[in-house]
Amino acid sequence: MPDVADVVVVGAGPAGCLTAQRLEERGLAVTLLDAGPRLPAKTRAPEVDRRIWPFSVEGDGFDWYRVRAVGGRAHLWGSWSHRFPDNVFRRGGWPFGRRALDRHYAAAEAQIGLKRGVLSPRFEAVATALELTMVPKAGARLRGGAVWTPRLLPVARRARQHLPATRLEHSRGRVQAVVAWDLRRERPVTVPCRAVVLAASPIETARLLLASALGPLGRDVGHGLVDHMVASYVLLEPTPAPRGADDLHASALVESFVNLDDQTARPYRGGFSIELAGPVPVSALGLERMVPGGEEERWSATQLHALGECFPHAGRFVTLDPSLTDVTGSAAPRIHVAWTPEEEAMAEDMKQACAQLSDALAIPGSKLIKFADPQTAGAGHEAGTCAMGLEAPAPCTPQGRLRALTNVWVADASTMPTSGDRHPTLTVLAQALRAADDCGRRIGGR
Ligand SMILES: Cc1cc2nc3c(=O)[nH]c(=O)nc-3n(C[C@H](O)[C@H](O)[C@H](O)COP(=O)(O)OP(=O)(O)OC[C@H]3O[C@@H](n4cnc5c(N)ncnc54)[C@H](O)[C@@H]3O)c2cc1C
Repeated sequence: MPDVADVVVVGAGPAGCLTAQRLEERGLAVTLLDAGPRLPAKTRAPEVDRRIWPFSVEGDGFDWYRVRAVGGRAHLWGSWSHRFPDNVFRRGGWPFGRRALDRHYAAAEAQIGLKRGVLSPRFEAVATALELTMVPKAGARLRGGAVWTPRLLPVARRARQHLPATRLEHSRGRVQAVVAWDLRRERPVTVPCRAVVLAASPIETARLLLASALGPLGRDVGHGLVDHMVASYVLLEPTPAPRGADDLHASALVESFVNLDDQTARPYRGGFSIELAGPVPVSALGLERMVPGGEEERWSATQLHALGECFPHAGRFVTLDPSLTDVTGSAAPRIHVAWTPEEEAMAEDMKQACAQLSDALAIPGSKLIKFADPQTAGAGHEAGTCAMGLEAPAPCTPQGRLRALTNVWVADASTMPTSGDRHPTLTVLAQALRAADDCGRRIGGR
């Protein structure tokens, strides 16, 4: 590692990797740290060991889907990549509209090799019958057609592995170094730097900042945690799946199912989207046991997955749990979760909408199976623990710069004021590139 890095980027998931790459393109010396290893190509990241990386939950349940490996949760992702519509920015109180992100959306789409699919006649017929706005899946693809992952980028190959950052060393409102724990040598490491970009994902970024004692300008860090409400079903149908259809030609997104353009009589703000994927062989989802024995080949499965928009509220936030320490000796995060009546009302509509879509899709003899209910929570899309806003107390500026430490930027979903009504990563990446540009400009890159 250089004696003093221009920028230390914490977290080598999609956001950290694209940020580090952008900063290097600006001629800056970047050190990219990750808590986990860089696994060989095609190796799926193992589940995070909760004995090593614990967390506690207070209130309603929360599944924190995480990955501790270079590439982050792109090890698991479905690569759905759709821009947020303008009304997400407006009703969520974002400090800018969608147009402000257009240039960075385009740059992020180019980076992830965005490909748009084609609506299958089956989905098209349902969209027409139910008068729904349905678009084909837009997915992130590598040149050979596989799902895009950041771990193949040159910058990811240079990431420093097994080095979880534990806190920031700072004085007079500026960071001087990142303190990390070397998991292999079991000792702390201090990485001096001129600036820091945090991209460890929202709960972890909040934990790191809470452990760094930011003072009054950091008092809202950890507040405003949001995720998507999820209702997930599988429609099993007694008909074989077509052979060889790729997911871009067998998937669709029902956009903003309700509350489109805010014209609504529903008792909640915001809206939800539903992803449709299939039909695929039941074996592709490990559902052989759900169909009559010996008939697996004659059945197919279509997934219906609704994602509902969440807004911040006082009962959902992240703090430190001093009674629980992780492998680095740091206090683990405590996730406080409570769902509001507004969100519960939306959850009911999400379930009904999935049932309605399933009825329209199903052939006689089909059955609908529930996978996940709203309120059991955690889509792996958490956001908002360090939200951006035009002024304090929002912890970050609209460019993702931390108000409490003027040479620190946040490039993951922590800065998003709301979850949005669909998959978040494309928006996270657009905002990460925007934060990287602001960081590069201010600390003197090209
Ligand atoms: C099953 C599943 C399916 C998904 N499908 C989609 C989809 O189809 N479309 C979509 O838009 N989104 C999807 N997502 C969400 C998507 O994966 C995330 O939005 C995206 O990975 C966020 O990128 P990130 O870089 O901000 O964070 P992450 O991917 O979480 O990466 C964080 C990185 O930081 C590292 N790290 C953590 N703590 C530290 C520390 N203290 N110090 C150093 N490094 C640290 C981790 O090892 C990791 O590499 C899915 C998520 C899941 C769980």
